[in-house]
Amino acid sequence: MSEVFNVEEIFAQNVFTLGQMQECLPKNVYKEVVKVMDEGGELSMGTANVVAKAMKDWAVEHGATHYTHWFQPLTGITAEKHDSFVTHPDETGKMITEFSGKELIKGEPDASSFPSGGLRATFEARGYTTWDITSPAFIKETATGPTLCIPTAFCSYKGEALDKKTPLLRSMEALSKQAIRIVKLFGNTEAKKVTPSVGAEQEYFLVDQKKALQREDIIFSGRTLFGAPAPKGQEMDDHYFGVIRERVGAYMHDVNIELWKLGVTSKTQHNEAAPAQHELAPIYESANVAVDHNQLVMETLKRVAGKHGLRCMLHEKPFAGVNGSGKHNNWSITTDNGVNLLEPGQTPNENIQFLLVLACIMKAVDTHADLLRQSASNVGNDHRLGGYEAPPAIISIFLGEQLEDVVEQLVETGKADSLKEGGVLRTGVSTLPDFVKDATDRNRTSPFAFTGNKFEFRMVGSEDSIGSPNTTLNAIVAEAFCEAADRLEAAEDFELAVHDLIKEYMTKHQRIIFNGNGYAKEWEEEAARRGLPNIPSMVEAVDTLTTPKAIHLFEKFGIFTEAELYSRAEVLYETYAKTINIEALTMIDMANKQIIPAVIRFCKTLADTTMAIKEAGGDATVSADLLKTVSEKLTETKNATNHLIEVEKQASSMPQGKEQAFYYYNTVIEAMNALRRPADELEKLVDKKDWPFPTYADLLFEV
Ligand code: ADP
Ligand code: MG
Repeated sequence: MSEVFNVEEIFAQNVFTLGQMQECLPKNVYKEVVKVMDEGGELSMGTANVVAKAMKDWAVEHGATHYTHWFQPLTGITAEKHDSFVTHPDETGKMITEFSGKELIKGEPDASSFPSGGLRATFEARGYTTWDITSPAFIKETATGPTLCIPTAFCSYKGEALDKKTPLLRSMEALSKQAIRIVKLFGNTEAKKVTPSVGAEQEYFLVDQKKALQREDIIFSGRTLFGAPAPKGQEMDDHYFGVIRERVGAYMHDVNIELWKLGVTSKTQHNEAAPAQHELAPIYESANVAVDHNQLVMETLKRVAGKHGLRCMLHEKPFAGVNGSGKHNNWSITTDNGVNLLEPGQTPNENIQFLLVLACIMKAVDTHADLLRQSASNVGNDHRLGGYEAPPAIISIFLGEQLEDVVEQLVETGKADSLKEGGVLRTGVSTLPDFVKDATDRNRTSPFAFTGNKFEFRMVGSEDSIGSPNTTLNAIVAEAFCEAADRLEAAEDFELAVHDLIKEYMTKHQRIIFNGNGYAKEWEEEAARRGLPNIPSMVEAVDTLTTPKAIHLFEKFGIFTEAELYSRAEVLYETYAKTINIEALTMIDMANKQIIPAVIRFCKTLADTTMAIKEAGGDATVSADLLKTVSEKLTETKNATNHLIEVEKQASSMPQGKEQAFYYYNTVIEAMNALRRPADELEKLVDKKDWPFPTYADLLFEV
C-alpha cells in the first residue's frame, strides 16, 4: 500500500495562492493585488517589493533556492532560466537572500535563441518577461531542487508578443469587453468581467522507458517512424475504460499527487481506446490558468514517468494503426456574477440571451472556420485530423437534436415555439432507475460539439499548447459579440432587433451545423457543397493567419498586429521544416545503421542455411524463397533510403519559408513513406531476435 495522505492538505501546497497572499501581505497590499488581478493595470513598485519579499520568504520556507520567470515561447513548450536568491555577502561574509519587486515583475532573458519569425533581429536580442498576475506563482520540485516559478508573458524589446501567453491574455480582455456589452443589453449591469473557462482533457501513451530508449525515432521525434502493426490493435475495445494496470496505476497516483501540490485539479483518469493510451482531465478554470496548468500536466506526466521506468509519449500519433492522442478543449464563458453564457436552461427556445450567444458563436465559427482549424494544427496533428479516428479536418458544429431543432424553427419561422424533450431513458430493469435523457447525445466525430453548457473543441493535438486554440476562440467570438452589440445598442426596438439578428445569423450560418458522422466520405462532399473549408494539413493552414479577414480580426481587437501574424506564419513553416527534417534524418540513420545491417545478416544466415540444406540433400525452397523476398525488399529499402537522403539534402539546402515547408510536406514525406513501407514488411519477415529494436507488440502490450 502506498503511504496515506490527505488530498485537502497537499492541494496547492506549492502554490502562492490568494489565500496565502492574504495571510502574509499587509491588507492594503493584498487589496491592490486583487484589484490588479480583477481590473488589470500595474502594481506600484512599492507594492511589488512587498509582494516579492513575501513570495520569496514563502518560497524559501518551502526550500526554494532559485526563482525563474516561467514562460511559453513559440516552441510550444515552456522555458525557464533559474536565478538564485543569493546576493553579495557583506564584509563579514554573511549573505542575505533577496528578491525585489522589479525582479518579480520583469525579467530580461536573452531572446535571440527563441523563435521569433523575423520579429527580432539578433542584434536586438532583448526580450522581456512580465509577470502574469492572474496566474499564481508556484514551486516546482525537480532534481534541481524546489524552484519558485513565476508565470510570465514574453515580449520583444518593442513589445511584440513572442509567446503563446500574451495574445491569449489580450484575447481574454477583448472577449470580456464585448461579452459585457451583450449581457448589459439583457439587463445584467452588475457584471464587470466575463472570463472564458477551459478544461483540457489530456491523452497520452505510456511505454517502457528501457524499450523506448532503444528506438532512435522515439528519442528524436517522439513517435515511431518504423513499425509493423502488432497482431492485436484496439479492435477488441478492451482497453478503453479497462482496469488500470498496477504499474500504470502507481504512476497515475504519483502524477496526481504532484499535480495537486501544484494546485492542478486532476480529476479524471482512465485508459483510452488504443493499447497503452490513457487520459487525464482536470476541472475547468480560467483560460490562462488552464493553459499554464496544461503545460504543468504535460511536464509532470513526462517527469514522473521516468521515476517509474516509463516513458510518456505526448505525440499526436506515436504509433501508426492505432488511435492517436488529442486534447479536448472544453470552453465556456462566464460572468463574474456567475452566469455561464452557454447555459441553455430548461427551455433554451425561450432563452433569448442564450440564443443570441449561440447565433454569435455559429457566426464566429463559420466566418473563421479556417482560423480555428489552423489554431489546432501542429506537425503531429497532421496524422490525426482527417484520419478517421479524430475529428475531420473540416470544422463544423454539433448542437444535438434539441438545439438543432430550435435553430431550424428559428430559421424557418423566426420563432421556436416547441422544444424536443430529452425524454426518459428506460433501463428496462426494475431495480435500476430510469434516467432523464440528456438533451444532447455525444457525437464523437464532431470537431466542435456543444455538450450541455460548454463547447468541446476536439481538434487540438495532445502535445500542443492550448494557448492558440483558446486565443482564436476568444477572438472570433469577441468579434461576433462586437458586431451584434453594435447593432443592438443602436436599435430602437431591442426585442425586435434581437429577434431579427438571431434569425439572420442562424440562417446565414446554418451551414456550419452538422450532426451526422464526421468521418463519412459523404460529409467531405457535403461540406464542399456547403462551401466549408477543408484544410488537410498544417502547412496548408498557415496562410489563414495572414488573410485580410484574419488581420482585420486580430488587429481590431488588439490581439495580434499584422507583423506578429506574419512572424507566426514564419515560425510555423520553420517548425514544420525542422521537425520533418529531424524525422527524415532519423529514418535514414535507423535504416542505414540498424535495419539494413540487420537484414543483411539475416540474408547471410538464409544463404548459408540454403546452401547447407542443399548440400545435405534437403529441400531448401523455404529458405531460398525467403532469401529471395527478403533480399528484394532489402534492395528496395536501400534504394528508398538513398532517395530520402537525396530529397532531404535538397530540402535542407532551400531557404527557410513557405516553399521549403511545402517541399518537406510534398516530397520529403513521400520519400519517408516509401522507405517505411519495405522496412515494415521486412520486420514481418526477419527473425525476431535479429530485429534491431523493440516492435509495436513489445512497446504497446508490455507495460
Ligand atoms: P467528458 O467530455 O469526457 O464527458 P466532462 O464533460 O465531464 O467529460 O468534462 C470534460 C472537461 O470539461 C473537464 O475538464 C471539465 O472540467 C470540463 N468542463 C465541464 N464543464 C465545463 C464548463 N462549463 N466550461 C468549461 N469546461 C468545462
Ligand atoms: Mg470530452
